[in-house]
This record gives sequence, structure tokens and C-alpha cells, in this order.
Amino acid sequence: MSDNEHRELVGEMFELLRKRHEFKTIEGTICCGSCAVAKLNSMGVSGQPCAYYHEQDAEIYETDKDLRLYIGYGWIESDRPSEEVGYMVAAAAVEVGLKVDWNGEGTSKIIVGLREE
Ligand SMILES: [Zn+2]
Repeated sequence: MSDNEHRELVGEMFELLRKRHEFKTIEGTICCGSCAVAKLNSMGVSGQPCAYYHEQDAEIYETDKDLRLYIGYGWIESDRPSEEVGYMVAAAAVEVGLKVDWNGEGTSKIIVGLREE
């Protein structure tokens, strides 16, 4: 799988999350985690799921030969457990054909990468 194909799958994953679960998403267009969370909070409403990667994650991704991308996620202004959102992200990643590396904990980012052939 090439870099471009992998990038397309990541895009499909975000698309699926927006369509199926009304996610608010940010794909690499904001500098860091705290700015991404602030922006997502301003874009969505309470109880809406969100997922993102920021510019620093995108830079790590660009230089990682294994093409691993860290995905942040959670609820907008909600006390519900964030792993609920994590499972939606992980399921969407698998559905589009990405490999998922995640410990199932809401405090850990989900790493989406290449599936071994
Ligand atoms: Zn920032």
C-alpha cells in the first residue's frame, strides 16, 4: 500500500464517522491537541462525538516509515466515557481497511496504520 492509498483510507475513515455518527472532525489543519479540542468544542454541540489529528501528529506521520497516525477523539462537552467514541473510531478504521493499534482506554490515542499484507 502506498502513502497516498493510506491517506485516502484515513480520509474515508473520517468521512464514515461524519456520515454515520455525525462526528465533528479536524484532519491535520490545526496546530496541537489543545487547539484542536477548543476548535471542536466551538464547532459542535454537547454530546456530539469528535475525532482529529493535528499538525504535530501529521508531521510524525509524514516521517514514520510505518505510516502510523495518532487519532484523538472524545465527546464534545460530555462526561460520557470517551472510550465509547474510541470504539466508533476503531470500528470505522477497520471497516475502511486500516490496521488499529489501541489499548481500549479512553485516555489513549488510537493509532491507525497499514494493515500487514
Ligand atoms: Zn495549538
